[in-house]
Amino acid sequence: MGVPGAQGVVVVGLGAAGSSLAWRLAGSGVPLRVVEAPGGSGRRTPERTWCTWGQAGPGPFGHLVSASWPRVRIVPRAGEQVVAHLGSWRYRMLRSQDLDTAVRERLAGAGVAVEEGVVEDAADLLEPGWTVVDTRPVPVPRTGRTLLLQHFLGRRVRAERPVFDPSTVTMMDFRVPQPAGGVAFGYVLPTSPHEALVEYTEFSARLLDEAGYEAALREYLRGSGIGEVEVLGSERGVIPMTDARFPPSEVPGVLRWGAASGSVRPSTGYAFSALQRQADVLARRARAGSPLVLPSAHRRRHLVMDSLVLEALASGRVDGAGFFSGLFARNPVHRVLGFLDGGTGPADDLRLMASSPRGPMLRTVLGRALPRVPLRR
Ligand SMILES: Cc1cc2nc3c(=O)[nH]c(=O)nc-3n(C[C@H](O)[C@H](O)[C@H](O)COP(=O)(O)OP(=O)(O)OC[C@H]3O[C@@H](n4cnc5c(N)ncnc54)[C@H](O)[C@@H]3O)c2cc1C
Repeated sequence: MGVPGAQGVVVVGLGAAGSSLAWRLAGSGVPLRVVEAPGGSGRRTPERTWCTWGQAGPGPFGHLVSASWPRVRIVPRAGEQVVAHLGSWRYRMLRSQDLDTAVRERLAGAGVAVEEGVVEDAADLLEPGWTVVDTRPVPVPRTGRTLLLQHFLGRRVRAERPVFDPSTVTMMDFRVPQPAGGVAFGYVLPTSPHEALVEYTEFSARLLDEAGYEAALREYLRGSGIGEVEVLGSERGVIPMTDARFPPSEVPGVLRWGAASGSVRPSTGYAFSALQRQADVLARRARAGSPLVLPSAHRRRHLVMDSLVLEALASGRVDGAGFFSGLFARNPVHRVLGFLDGGTGPADDLRLMASSPRGPMLRTVLGRALPRVPLRR
């Protein structure tokens, strides 16, 4: 969806998407307004930790990365773990409060005040020649084949013993009970031998109650050998993983973007690096005075592959823990991480498909030839 003849840009929402565009437009000569919900309004997105991987970045925010790791670890339910060195790549962590501070400073330096307000209707901000880039969250469309939820409880912890290896991220540790029609794993981002963000994560159809997350995380800390910890902070989240298409805004002059436009990769729940790619294009167009046309967040081929994976997981046709551990065990780490970040070409994608469980995936493909049943979860 394009917005022709844009001259000025109003960014609504200063989260991952809005901050990424505001950073690029601040001081660029493009007239800019930024509106963000005030803290305590109930609309402000809570602080979060964004992770990405690759050669450099993410986007222009490399200097804000608060921790990075040269190695990733995948722990299957049984058998050998995979510990892979990323070469010149890094797995990186960026805290939302650091991005927020940096973006606000840059905006202030460019003379752009962040306006505090709860926007009810983005069209109210429209003025002739301006485009409103609306990044407020929207309800998840129920028009896809599959909707899973990535839901997690994370704790920043301090362990009594030096149990963490600060050079290695544990991306997926499957030594936890597995839900039907989904997958569960521990995720560990160590910042010192004693400190880490430790999460219990599920991709499944149903959320747990508070006690359920607490118990699952406690059990992971015990079972993985981390043991007794002091809790320093918490992070929780629910990220929809769906192959549904997110409809664009129907209001001329309003461009919907962010998680609200389908920038979250369905098979991973990650969006930050796709948002950087989209922000580059939007900022370039705004600077050139061209209509703001949102580039696709993800390649079509990858979305088809994700849709098959989500369906195979949700239907229980594939064992999620075996599927993901197998991908990392049978492929070079750059191929798997490259795919998950949208960077692989057709040849690597074919190799990945060939290394996934053939029977269940084939049954999922063949199932698509049958009439479609409405989405249920
Ligand atoms: C807990 C969590 C952790 C995540 N971790 C990762 C990760 O590690 N890596 C990764 O790639 N992706 C991650 N994601 C996925 C994705 O990157 C994030 O959801 C990302 O924040 C999406 O960016 P966004 O700008 O679309 O939405 P948000 O970041 O939520 O930004 C929306 C903004 O709009 C504002 N707003 C809302 N309503 C209004 C209103 N009415 N008026 C004005 N302003 C309003 C909010 O305050 C917020 O600033 C994570 C998601 C969650 C939920």
